Amino acid sequence: MTPFVFPGILTRVVFGRGTLAQTGDEVARLGGKRALVLTTPPQAEDGAALADRLGDMAAGTFTEAAMHTPVEVTARAIAAFDAAGADCVVSLGGGSTIGLGKAIATRKGCDHVAIPTTYAGSEMTDILGETEGGEKTTRRDASIRPETVIYDVDLTLGLPVELSVKSALNASAHAIEALYAPDANPVTSLMSLEALRAIRDALPGLRTAPKDPEIRGQLLYGAWLCSTALGYVAMSLHHKLAHVVGGSFDMPHADTHAILLPHTAGFNAGGTDALDPVADLLGGSVGGGLWDLARDAGAPLRLADLGLTEADLDRASEIALKNKYENPRPFDREDIRGLLQAAWEGRRPAA
Ligand code: NAD
Repeated sequence: MTPFVFPGILTRVVFGRGTLAQTGDEVARLGGKRALVLTTPPQAEDGAALADRLGDMAAGTFTEAAMHTPVEVTARAIAAFDAAGADCVVSLGGGSTIGLGKAIATRKGCDHVAIPTTYAGSEMTDILGETEGGEKTTRRDASIRPETVIYDVDLTLGLPVELSVKSALNASAHAIEALYAPDANPVTSLMSLEALRAIRDALPGLRTAPKDPEIRGQLLYGAWLCSTALGYVAMSLHHKLAHVVGGSFDMPHADTHAILLPHTAGFNAGGTDALDPVADLLGGSVGGGLWDLARDAGAPLRLADLGLTEADLDRASEIALKNKYENPRPFDREDIRGLLQAAWEGRRPAA
């Protein structure tokens, strides 16, 4: 038996349909009296409706959350928080909005109730990525982790299918990497496998029945599990490579993850038996099974379609080797270049 540390799950979770109605109770449970409700501009109406529902417990709304948590947006949000006399934050939205909630909560030392409406999986973690002057820095700290997460399946029924598919694959990447993480424990591994099972079962039906609450419920359940696992372990090759391709070449975050995952997972399947149960879940091949799942769900499959050139692949391979990080399978430049070539062409991985 491999020794392990299990820190316990530190966030309260409320999961179901119509659970948004419990937001006031959850804020009160934390001792909150005036919550600032956060959203992106497209979700401003939903934020206003939630503030209405909270009544006196709402300090107001701040609707400028943006991708990658720019520090200047956080500064404006904190000014709004102070001006409104808020004592806690409620973030309603995807990873961008929850990121803003974390950025405020860690600076103000206040409580944070997160209500995710995508599958990206920021809500259960102690990780915060922020951008300043175009530079992104990521840190982990206990004060970043939301106190309470409310999952309401109904909020995801209208999440556009294309975004849903990429978001679910993004979540799957956390589960895959959690399985072979150097600090994995039996609980994160159980959660990761169950997440991949739920996503495998639900994703194929999404295109034909995007508002089916059963399908949406399974996907959100899977997203919760993926996010929880991510919150307790370190990520490896897949995330580093997605960061290099996304960050250095300005490629869209969700597409980059979705395209790379079958290739990074297939590569690592050759270096660890931690992914053997994933092969069992996906018809015998980790990379091939993930690629089939992505193709059948209508996900993007080729880095070439994002506008990346073959010369970019050479540069990306160089950058990816600059920093050392843990990975279950050792690799060199040729491995990375080959993996990126396959992802660029959209080839189905054999492993
Ligand atoms: P996002 O939050 O940027 O949302 C994308 C768009 O979809 C936004 O315009 C949003 O308003 C809209 N949207 C969200 N939910 C919707 C719904 N139900 N219906 C209709 N529109 C909806 O994107 P995301 O993919 O959720 O999050 C990505 C970000 O999260 C990235 O910046 C990533 O780095 C971060 N992230 C952080 C962690 C962490 O642990 N820190 C984990 C995962 C992702």
